Amino acid sequence: MLQQVNGHSSGSDAQGRESLREDLQEFLGGEVPLHQLDDLTKVNPVTLETVLRCLQARYTADTFYTNAGCTLVALNPFKHVPQLYSPELMREYHAAPQPQKLKPHIFTVGEQTYRNVRSLIEPVNQSIVVSGESGAGKTWTSRCLMKFYAVVAASPTSWESHKIAERIEQRILNSNPVMEAFGNACTLRNNNSSRFGKFIQLQLNRDHQMTGAAIQTYLLEKTRVACQDSTERNFHIFYQICKGASSDERLQWHLPEGAAFSWLPNPERTLEEDCFEVTREAMLHLGVDAPTQNNIFQALAGLLHLGNIRFAGAGDEAQPCRPMDDGAVRTSALLLRLPEDPLLETLRIRTIRAGRQQQVFRKPCSQAECDTRRDCLAKLVYARLFDWLVSVINSSVCADPASWTTFIGLLDVYGFESFPHNSLEQLCINYANEKLQQHFVAHYLRAQQEEYAVEGLEWSFVNYQDNQTCLDLIEGSPISICSLINEECRLNRPSSAAQLQTRIESALAGSPCLGHNKLSPEPSFVVLHYAGSVRYHTAGLVEKNKDPVPPELTRLLQQSQDPLLKVLFPADPEEKSQAEPSGQSRAPVLTVVSKFKASLEQLLQVLQATTPHYIRCIKPNSQGRAQALHREEVLNQLEACGLVETIHISAAGFPIRVSHRTFVERYASLRRLHPRAPPDPHSPSPDEGHSEGSPHAEQATLRALLQDILHTLPALEAAAPAA
Ligand code: ATP
Ligand code: MG
Repeated sequence: MLQQVNGHSSGSDAQGRESLREDLQEFLGGEVPLHQLDDLTKVNPVTLETVLRCLQARYTADTFYTNAGCTLVALNPFKHVPQLYSPELMREYHAAPQPQKLKPHIFTVGEQTYRNVRSLIEPVNQSIVVSGESGAGKTWTSRCLMKFYAVVAASPTSWESHKIAERIEQRILNSNPVMEAFGNACTLRNNNSSRFGKFIQLQLNRDHQMTGAAIQTYLLEKTRVACQDSTERNFHIFYQICKGASSDERLQWHLPEGAAFSWLPNPERTLEEDCFEVTREAMLHLGVDAPTQNNIFQALAGLLHLGNIRFAGAGDEAQPCRPMDDGAVRTSALLLRLPEDPLLETLRIRTIRAGRQQQVFRKPCSQAECDTRRDCLAKLVYARLFDWLVSVINSSVCADPASWTTFIGLLDVYGFESFPHNSLEQLCINYANEKLQQHFVAHYLRAQQEEYAVEGLEWSFVNYQDNQTCLDLIEGSPISICSLINEECRLNRPSSAAQLQTRIESALAGSPCLGHNKLSPEPSFVVLHYAGSVRYHTAGLVEKNKDPVPPELTRLLQQSQDPLLKVLFPADPEEKSQAEPSGQSRAPVLTVVSKFKASLEQLLQVLQATTPHYIRCIKPNSQGRAQALHREEVLNQLEACGLVETIHISAAGFPIRVSHRTFVERYASLRRLHPRAPPDPHSPSPDEGHSEGSPHAEQATLRALLQDILHTLPALEAAAPAA
């Protein structure tokens, strides 16, 4: 055999042999050093420990991206690596005949996604789901992908509107600094943490050029406006206006240099994200002109002054609460262009309608109630302002529906969260992650199954744990955690945290995903998520879910003379009741959970109609230091994103997929190495009866080639030491 091989040796034989050797070595894992293993499905055995070792070796070698079967793992470098994101590199991945043969990169995912939408046979909308814990690099990754498409899918035309002619992709990129200024904040985990979820749809025309975009946001953490941890900060925009306002603006917005605001903790910290000019410039490009910007910043300054209002007094009929400093009320009323007395009245007096006659009662609020109403007013203004900005951005970047045919969606979504104290926010976030994990598994398993069925391959699936049981516990009907929390809101009965715990635990006792609640000092329940168990505290859960807005607050804001607030709070067409109805007569509330569930379902519908791609961002250490990978922290994240399971799913399938054409191109030269085996008299000749080029003929050629290669292998092995 060896002689035969040697005897027939020629240039193309040697090439073919070399290809085969390379591929076999790659496939078998051979002596490839860990840091050169580009795909985690090739670590052996696949365990958390081996996966971690491989990632650690790669990180040490400054290799930040690694494939994990159908997903890409992205380690945060925590340092600038400009050559890794240069337009030249983007073009290289774009031009590569087989980008997946290049080093793993987000551009491989970007390019593969882009090729899928360009498929001539069946263009399908695509989506890229970027997940990971806070600070892992989701927003960075999404931004880089947007830049990638701005380069490879640039449109030749420019847009002309708002008196600024510019390329649409530039305008889409401009949405990032604006959204980040208003929606990001410095937290313990990330100096530029996104406090909202984002799905951006990049719209492509028939020529596969980016013609527009649409942005959808989820669950803005509006509480941050009025309540910040002492170690964290408010949204960046507040610091930007305080640091970047001109002297005229300082006068106009009542923001003297060095002024102290209770809602502005840690103003001395200087961040890259504090650049007011960048935000203004980007807003201008998105069509928010200077006078409108002025209104926005003035209203934000008004909120800062609102936050300085403190109340004193018993808060009863005899001694209603009074502001400790009239100046804060006056300035905030001035800046929000609200009448001063009604502002104060609304903050400290509650009006209730009750009785058969629906009489209106005025009840002085306690200090705590006054504070709650003040905070609620700020949250209401900020949340509306944020939504309005998103709609302005959308109207500036969204293409005419007739001008685009396909889209690539980018989802920058909060990862699984488990803190010492978890509440409604974590429940919603982890619920979203359960949904996305289910979508991922279902999509990937289904895609594999369909592919093998088409190829006529025999295949039995590993039994993969489905997370439907956990989803049933959270959102199922008729009874689930969501339905029980909603029920409490609907009944509007006084209910303690302990009672809610008991209700959840007794009504859902049968669910295997409701964890054993070991003695805990605070009322809580435990959910066994696919990514780990989380204890949710029940105190304040129902109130957060109601997210109540006293109608007097909305009515007050409708009285504002500010052109922006007039838009945010348009007057009711017909004047509704002047007071809050009491008890049972309340209209049913649309709870936070219900709204979130509806938007999540909408998102999943969109995702289900696309081919998804997944990028899992990993944060190597919590200090944001370059070149430091902390084992325990990374292990927790690998566990939380179910990476080992993902690799098992990928590895359980056939690890190498080569198209018929590539296979023939790569190995055809080997066919001459071995004389064709005599045909089996009991089976029809492979090529028999099939016209050339038909699928059967292709399969027959393939089979013949494989037979030849199998015969050649011993000779190759014998030749290997010499090679
Ligand atoms: P959050 O959930 O809090 O919004 P995130 O996952 O979106 O977090 P990013 O804001 O994208 O995290 O990243 C955190 C920081 O890590 C960035 O501000 C940047 O400093 C750094 N970083 C992330 N990815 C990269 C990268 N590829 N190269 C260099 N630095 C990076
Ligand atoms: Mg982010």
